[in-house]
Amino acid sequence: MLNIALFGPPGAGKGTQSEFLIKKYKLFYISTGDILRKEIADKTKLGLEAQSIIASGGLVSDEIIVQIIEKTITENPDANGFLFDGFPRTYIQAYILEGLMIKLNTSLNCLISLNVEEDESVKRLLDRGKTSGRSDDNEVVIRNRLKEYNEKTLPVLRFYKDKGIFRELNGANSIDKVKKGIQKIIREELSKNLFNIVLFGYPGSGRGSQGIALAKKFGLEYVATGPMLEQEIEKNTETGKKIKELYDNGQLVPDEIVVQLIEKKLESSKGIKGFIFKGYPRTLVQSYILDGLLKKHGSSIAQVIEIEVPTLELIKRLDERSKTERCMSYDTSTSKIVKRLQEHENKTVPVIEKYNQLHGVTKIDGLGSFNEVFERISNEISKLI
Ligand code: AMP
Repeated sequence: MLNIALFGPPGAGKGTQSEFLIKKYKLFYISTGDILRKEIADKTKLGLEAQSIIASGGLVSDEIIVQIIEKTITENPDANGFLFDGFPRTYIQAYILEGLMIKLNTSLNCLISLNVEEDESVKRLLDRGKTSGRSDDNEVVIRNRLKEYNEKTLPVLRFYKDKGIFRELNGANSIDKVKKGIQKIIREELSKNLFNIVLFGYPGSGRGSQGIALAKKFGLEYVATGPMLEQEIEKNTETGKKIKELYDNGQLVPDEIVVQLIEKKLESSKGIKGFIFKGYPRTLVQSYILDGLLKKHGSSIAQVIEIEVPTLELIKRLDERSKTERCMSYDTSTSKIVKRLQEHENKTVPVIEKYNQLHGVTKIDGLGSFNEVFERISNEISKLI
């Protein structure tokens, strides 16, 4: 979900910018002012209560605001995200928004403040008053609205500055320039919003083929360190040459090399929804590295999945595979297969246990056809993505 609050004095251009934002990012628009005006036009009880306050340029009660926002967000649980305009308007409403986001199991990505000087605000609102038909777009009420803004609304900024999700733009710039500024902020937010999955399973559990298919289905980038290393060797890059030497000497590839490759992948992937990691992290040390890498990119692990297959079935599958052309160089003998299973048990199972304590691990029954297992994993991802 992408949840944004547009902030600024009356006349800052929040409504104008909202029009393009809701179209481009398919957000559900919540303008408390618009909702209140509709309640007044419909002559509802709530509208009658709010009417005189709005006419004088004051702020309506938090009780009324909570009622209308709660109703709107609970009626639209499938929204891609929400765009708030005119809310939160008081320090208390910032707390209220936090609570409402918790209820939806989400959070506000950022509050974007469109900064405009008071004189410019007044000028714009008087201009708008000629055509808006809004009774509160007249000089006396405008002055009062700005007074309310300075006294009650500006302190909201402190809340978001403290939280570290405050962004600001010069609202006096042209509509197009402000629009570009907002887009840049949102692009940054979306990259923080990546949905990252770590896919675990013993060798032979089907994690590789499932990982590739899942990445395709959910628009994720598949990150499998094994094939990434192979690719470097094939391309005969400097790193590839180093890796080949290590392989030839039967040595493990050091974490530094793997980290560099993952980092390159994280940096070069644009416009994706997230990553699906397979074969990494394999050790506790690597799990700390991955957490650190993702954190550096403002991201984190959203879901950890383990495909479970009984040991005998794994041996049967790996043995069968070793007799086909899909045989991997590391599965050519029983002793090699047993060694790989043991490695997983000794080094990777503790990683899964760590994640189980931290985030919980989604366990998937890996028996059955490819499609059956794919269906099971997809269902679990769909619940969260
Ligand atoms: P707007 O369309 O955002 O300029 O809002 C018009 C009027 O609606 C304001 O001057 C307030 O009287 C009222 N209003 C809108 N949103 C809120 C809010 N979050 N809290 C209190 N009053 C609000």
